[in-house]
Formats: sequence, structure tokens, C-alpha cells
Amino acid sequence: MKKITGSCVCGKVEFSVADQFVYAGYCHCSMCRKSSGAAGTAIGGIPKNHFSVTKGQDHIKRFNRTEESISCFCEHCGSALYGEKPSVRMVHVRYGALNNNPTLLPQAHMHVSSKAQWYEISDELPQFSEFPDA
Ligand SMILES: [Zn+2]
Ligand SMILES: [Zn+2]
Repeated sequence: MKKITGSCVCGKVEFSVADQFVYAGYCHCSMCRKSSGAAGTAIGGIPKNHFSVTKGQDHIKRFNRTEESISCFCEHCGSALYGEKPSVRMVHVRYGALNNNPTLLPQAHMHVSSKAQWYEISDELPQFSEFPDA
């Protein structure tokens, strides 16, 4: 099974993930915007058992965004790396943290109802006002 790797900006944290993302999309929710400092964030969903931190586990800080979403980021450089979704045993990997291109490209825009007004979506991907049912 092909694996892809990812890391934070400072390089203290590295992870490995199977190139078998189940879904992928751009999230425009306010929490993704704020935590990334960008218009939104591209994420890919993968079952937790296909994801592993390979370096710097001790440098990962975890923030409970909601009961169902834990943001994981590097304590040194602040890079957002992935989110844990414990209730569904999934990990949402930030595509921006990857070192290689995943096979599954973003399929849709999610949480478009909370999209920043200053950002205009200019592609043809489907748009969902919330998170679509997988
Ligand atoms: Zn770092
Ligand atoms: Zn989001």
C-alpha cells in the first residue's frame, strides 16, 4: 500500500498516511479559517488505523475544538497537521501538511455557509452548506 508523508514547518513532527483517503474537500468553516489563517483548509479523511505519527509525538499539542473534533498541531511552529474525529475513528489530514500528492483530490467545498465573504470560490466543485454525509 502506497504511503505518503507529511510534516510541520519546523520538521519536529512527521507523519505517514496510506494514500487511501476516503473523502477530501476544502473546509470553509470558521474554525478551519482561524486555525489556518487562510481562506479555508483542504483536508482528506482517512480511517485512524491508516495514519501514524512517525516522529515528534511529544511535540504535538491537541486542542479540543468540539467534542467530536480535536485539532493537532506542532507546539514549536504552530503548523496545523490533522484533526482527530474520535466518534467516527477518522483522521482529517491537512493536505497542506503533506509532502507528496494524494491520489484523491478535493471533491467538494464544505461548510460554505460560513465561508469568508472576501473569498470567492471559482472552481466547479460541488458546494455544501455544512459537512455532507459521507
Ligand atoms: Zn513544527
Ligand atoms: Zn473546517
